Order: sequence, then structure tokens, then C-alpha cells
Amino acid sequence: MKKGTECVHAGYNPANGEPRQMPVYQSTTFKYDSSDAMAKLFDLEASGYFYTRLQNPTNDLVAARIAALEGGVGACLTSSGQAANFFACFNICEAGDHMITTSNIYGGTYNLFGWTLRKMGIDVTFIDMEADDATLEAAFKPNTKLVFGETLTNPGVRILDIERLAKAAHAHGVPLIVDNTFPTPVNCRPIEFGADIVTHSTTKYMDGQGVAVGGVVVDSGKFDWMAHADKFPGLCTPDASYHGLVYAEKFGSAAYITKLVTHLMRDLGSIQAPQNAFYLGLGLQTLHIRMQQHCANALAVAKFLESCPEVAWIDYPGLESDPMHARMRKYMPGGSCGVMAFGLKGDRARAERFMDALKLVTIETHVADCHSCILHPASHTHRQLSDEQLREAGVRPDLMRLSIGLEDAEDLIADLRQALKA
Ligand SMILES: *Cc1c(COP(=O)(O)O)cnc(C)c1O
Repeated sequence: MKKGTECVHAGYNPANGEPRQMPVYQSTTFKYDSSDAMAKLFDLEASGYFYTRLQNPTNDLVAARIAALEGGVGACLTSSGQAANFFACFNICEAGDHMITTSNIYGGTYNLFGWTLRKMGIDVTFIDMEADDATLEAAFKPNTKLVFGETLTNPGVRILDIERLAKAAHAHGVPLIVDNTFPTPVNCRPIEFGADIVTHSTTKYMDGQGVAVGGVVVDSGKFDWMAHADKFPGLCTPDASYHGLVYAEKFGSAAYITKLVTHLMRDLGSIQAPQNAFYLGLGLQTLHIRMQQHCANALAVAKFLESCPEVAWIDYPGLESDPMHARMRKYMPGGSCGVMAFGLKGDRARAERFMDALKLVTIETHVADCHSCILHPASHTHRQLSDEQLREAGVRPDLMRLSIGLEDAEDLIADLRQALKA
């Protein structure tokens, strides 16, 4: 099926007399007739529901829809995008291991990798997303377990050369994990370009209305864990906490996502609430239409800003003048997303006066939903980062992140025009 049809239907196919809309299974637990039936579930001998921390039917329906959209074999919803990125890495990386990440990533992910994973004993190397071949090669160590990047960076909106990173990762026998939050699978399907695991903050476009924080991890099912069994003992050697089961043998191409659910969710418990999963499912049903409108609105606004003498610079891959335009044509030909980055001529106080003068576009620590909003990362989301870390993360100190929603573009442009005058 095409993407629009999948947004509306994938993962849920009601039988005769069943609800047309995916229902919410607002239940912590599930009932069984025999002790033996329940025991089989605990041994992973049979599949079924027993406790919502591990699995819930609403979550599974929504996860199946996202897996279909990304072209993966399975997915797991998490309580937030942060939890998704943590689980995606921690599922195959533990104390004593090493991972490589591009430094051009969301501030929260930068902190997670740079501070928290390091505290847990995971060695992390940050490299620029455009690092030359020699730098990229030199970043790999014998204990490297994965490479991580963002397909469209937040807040810089730069596009990752997914194929290049996938090739480098695979040459070293490790998977590429990408955060595909900004383009969504409607605009970019990283698995087609070699990514092995895809994550999202579903809080953004997938929800789209700004109602529920959430995340998801999608498994492409394509990485051959057994071919690199020495690197991934968690997947390729017996798991004592499940009576010696070997994930890669028992679950084949779904080994990674099964371990993430049965091991990490069991022990760390960052499940998405079924009610939030229900909201997410509603959001997905219009994702394909909304992404088109976000891109069309954002392109109109970007063209307007590009023409303003007050604007020092603007980054939006949809602009033909943008250095990322050619890469956009390859990886996300339908458009990037509604987010752009720009700076004003003049000092920081001028940028603050501009933001304060906006009436329709609001100042928010959020991005990528139907309401247009603006943020100055250096004083908001990225304020824990030093100037040097800011530069590493590709965030210029004067960068303003403008997220264009679903209002009429003419009204948005009028608001920006009056604020620039003010
Ligand atoms: C927002 C965001 C996250 C974190 O997601 P939360 O749902 O806020 O935890 C991770 N990655 C990207 C690209 C994001 O934009």
C-alpha cells in the first residue's frame, strides 16, 4: 500500500462487528483461564498479553502501524523520545562498550549520550555529521557497537548522508541507528538507505497536535546479529534471565526488538501509556496530509524570510539556494519538514525583541506540531551546552528555530513581517 493508506489502515484490521477506530485497552493486566497458559507467556513460549509494562494491545496496534510506515519488522512504543534513543542504544551497548554518534543532534540526546551513557560506562565518540572519511574511520574501536545520527537535525535542519554512515557502520560489523523524528516516514524511510534501527520522538509530527509525549523504536530486521555474534552477546548468547534463550536464534529477524521489549521494558519500564498511544494512533491517520501542508507552509515562509533584509541567514532544505537541497532531493524528495533555522542581523537583544513581538507564532519549548512556534536554542533547549558544544552540535548562538504549523501561510508571514518591523 502507499503511505497515505498505511497511515490510515496499517496495523489495524477490524473483524466483523469490531470497532472501526482502534480502541484503547485501558487495562494494566489480562486474564487467563489456566496457570499453564500464563506460564508459557512468561517463558516467551507463547505470545499474548499479561501486563501492560511489557505489552498492551493498543500500543501494539500503533507500533505495528509505525513499523509498516518505516518498512520494519517490528516496533515498540516508549514513554518519550528520550527513552526511545536510550533503549535503542542500551539494547546492544553496555558498560565497557563504545558507540559513535554525530554531534549534530537534539540537545536532549546530546546530554543523554555525553553525560548519562558515559556515567553508565559507555564510551561515546562524537563526530561531525560531515566528518571526512579518515575521521570517520578513526572513530571506530574494537569495542564499537553502533553508529547513531539524526536524519534531519534538530535544530539545524541538516540532512544526514544516511547511505555513507550505513556503509561505514556495516563495514565494521555494527548497525546504524537513526532518529527520524523530523522528516517522519512520510518524507524519509531511512531503512531503504541502509539504516538498521529507526527511532522517533512521537511527541512531534506523529502526534501532531501537541497532546502526548512519546517515542518509538523500529527494527528493520535486516541486521545479521549472528554474523557478528562476538560483538552482540546480549542477542547471540543464552540469556540467563529467560532460561538460556538466545534471542537471535529464537526470534530471527525480530531478535533486537523482542529483546528490547522483553528485557529493557521488563526491567526499566518506560512504556507509553495506552491512552497516549491512542492519541498517537489518531495523529498517524492524518500524518501524510499534515506533512505535505507543513512543508508547503514552511517553504512559503522560508522564501519570505530569505527576501527580508533583516534576515542574516536562513537554513531550510526546501529552498533551492540551501546547500542541503540536493541531498533533500535524494533522501526526502517530498520535502523535509516544517522546521527552519535562521538568524537576524544585529545583536541578541534584537532577536529577543523580534520574538517578543510575535503574536501568532508563540515562544515554546516545542516543535513540529500544528501550532507555529519559535525558540532560541542557545537560551532555551541547549542552554546546558557550552559555546564550544553548541558549535559542535551545529547550533549557532544567534540561531532561532522556527517551527511552522498548519495555520494559513499568509497569516504567518504577516505576523513575521510585523515582528521584524517592531
Ligand atoms: C524532541 C526530540 C527528542 C526527544 O523526544 P521527547 O519526546 O521530548 O523525549 C529526540 N530527538 C529529536 C530529534 C527530537 O526532536
